[in-house]
Amino acid sequence: MRVLIVEDEPKAAAYLRRGLSEHGFVADVAAGGEEGLYLARQSRYDLLVLDVMLPGRDGWSVLSELRRTGDQTPVLFLTARDAVPDRVKGLELGADDYLVKPFAFSELLARIRTILRRGPARRPETLRVADLEVDLAAHRASRAGRRLDLTPKEFLLLSLLARRAGEVLSRTLIAEQVWDMNFDSGTNVVEVHVRRLRSKVDDPFARKLIRTVRGVGYVLEAE
Ligand code: CA
Repeated sequence: MRVLIVEDEPKAAAYLRRGLSEHGFVADVAAGGEEGLYLARQSRYDLLVLDVMLPGRDGWSVLSELRRTGDQTPVLFLTARDAVPDRVKGLELGADDYLVKPFAFSELLARIRTILRRGPARRPETLRVADLEVDLAAHRASRAGRRLDLTPKEFLLLSLLARRAGEVLSRTLIAEQVWDMNFDSGTNVVEVHVRRLRSKVDDPFARKLIRTVRGVGYVLEAE
């Protein structure tokens, strides 16, 4: 189980990391919101332990950004504040649980185990980019209310692009995520599928959403 700890107080972060490692977790630490968001997007974590008060981008902002882009990684909030509005805010934003500092490590561990046992039960949301809608649960996509007829691979490719909208995704990353294969420069499977996807997602519409970034990869965004 991999856990990302986003906590700006070095002693608290080191304490959490050590404790979690001793209990069989692989724990990474990010010292700020931006770094936390970056790491959460770079690799798959089973859980995020997210401090609310962080320099720069705070915990609320990290969580809402993750949820906005369809990332449903469970989040346990840590905060020094015990105000009810804060608690409600965290849960509304899609936090899975909430722990008020100071807490006993055993309490944290118990909460983490409960969240992980519960599993990713939440129904994945619908991703929206301009007039494009990608319903992850129903495996349906539409533009301007018009249903797009996509193959399973095309749907997977589109949901990857939509989940990470605004981010340029390399061909290597796309090949790994959609085809579960290591990119071999001899194959043009990514190009071929992007072209087919475009013919359905972009060609019939004036506004183009999928953009090629030469020498880098592809990005889906509402420019
Ligand atoms: Ca803090």
